[in-house]
Amino acid sequence: MTALGFTTKIVHSDHKLGLEAGAVHAPIHNSVPFGFEDVQGLIDVFQGQPGHAYARSSTPTLDALCKKIQKMDNGVATAVFSCGMSAIVATFLTLLKSGDHLICSRFLFGNTTSLLGTLQGYGIDVTLVDATDINDVTAALNSNTKMVFVETIANPVTQVSALAEIGDFCEAESLVYVIDNTITSSYLFDANTVKASLIVTSLSKYVAGHGNAMGGSVTDTGLFDWEKYSNIFPAYRKGDSNLWGISQIKKKGLRDMGACLSSQGAHLISVGSETMELRMERQAVNTMALAELLQGHPKIAKVYYPGLADHPQHERAKQLFSGFGALLSFDLIEGIDCCEFLNKLNLVISATHLGDNRTLALPVAPTIYFEMGLQLRQEMGISENMIRCSIGIENTVDLIADFEQALA
Ligand SMILES: *Cc1c(COP(=O)(O)O)cnc(C)c1O
Repeated sequence: MTALGFTTKIVHSDHKLGLEAGAVHAPIHNSVPFGFEDVQGLIDVFQGQPGHAYARSSTPTLDALCKKIQKMDNGVATAVFSCGMSAIVATFLTLLKSGDHLICSRFLFGNTTSLLGTLQGYGIDVTLVDATDINDVTAALNSNTKMVFVETIANPVTQVSALAEIGDFCEAESLVYVIDNTITSSYLFDANTVKASLIVTSLSKYVAGHGNAMGGSVTDTGLFDWEKYSNIFPAYRKGDSNLWGISQIKKKGLRDMGACLSSQGAHLISVGSETMELRMERQAVNTMALAELLQGHPKIAKVYYPGLADHPQHERAKQLFSGFGALLSFDLIEGIDCCEFLNKLNLVISATHLGDNRTLALPVAPTIYFEMGLQLRQEMGISENMIRCSIGIENTVDLIADFEQALA
């Protein structure tokens, strides 16, 4: 049988689990404790048998979402968390310890960059590199390097990391390769193709899609040999070694650190995910149309979108991704005030967040990059006149008309 398409797999994911009374959606289990007729059942769950004991660690609804995300990501196992940041925190804190070295892209989601400062306070060495350039990444290697963390398309400048080359490097040096696939999602980019060890996704964005639920996931691709990884605790060095990493992330990240997703949230994400391909297709069409309108417009100084032929990593993006996504930034020419421009847009909402059905925009410098200060913004190539847009699923003509009237 040929492999099923992305959406076919997703929409048939829950009912294929053989759920209660033929339900096509995984039921929402709100129970916190799970009771057993025979106490041995409880003991078995505590000792690693499949099952549920307490909702901080798992519920049947969360398990169904894990299976769905695992299918999307083509991985061996998935853990879900309360949001993308908690998935990232759990990955770092459960797999790294004081004295370890972490290589990270310099172009990361702002809150992840902020988190790296916290990690350094706990004795984890961090080197920030230009992840678009493999030489800059390999030059950061140290004897204590354990992990490399990058994003696919960076926000807000849209740099595309040297994902394939970094994968080869991590494989050669036995480093855990973590890819934050939020901006592309597993629909546009299968991170297995570049040998990712772990795929991290903020489910709050394109996967949930409707701006009504938060969640995060970590999927183990099965490509990393955890037997070689010294930071796996003895308790998790048991059974299939493919699952050691994700077991430790799950146990320590959820059970010990407690950033658990609610079953209600999991249901919303699960329903949202069914239309991700359809939404992302429309969003990409809209984003390309907007990029073309903005490029060369006399009031626009620069457009950042990997779909444009003159984007520095356009060829790389074309090769790696099945589309260019829906994140677009642009600089207004000097003399035009970002806020004045944004207030002229009628449909577009001034809001942070990405991957919503509605087009959202914000002035970058005074909002998401305010805390970093002018110097860091300049180092990251963020102009003071930059606007970031997350393009939605509106009808293309309406969206273009809104930008046209605001530019006029
Ligand atoms: C939003 C985002 C996160 C954090 O996700 P939350 O669900 O908001 O916590 C992490 N990485 C990237 C690339 C993001 O865009």
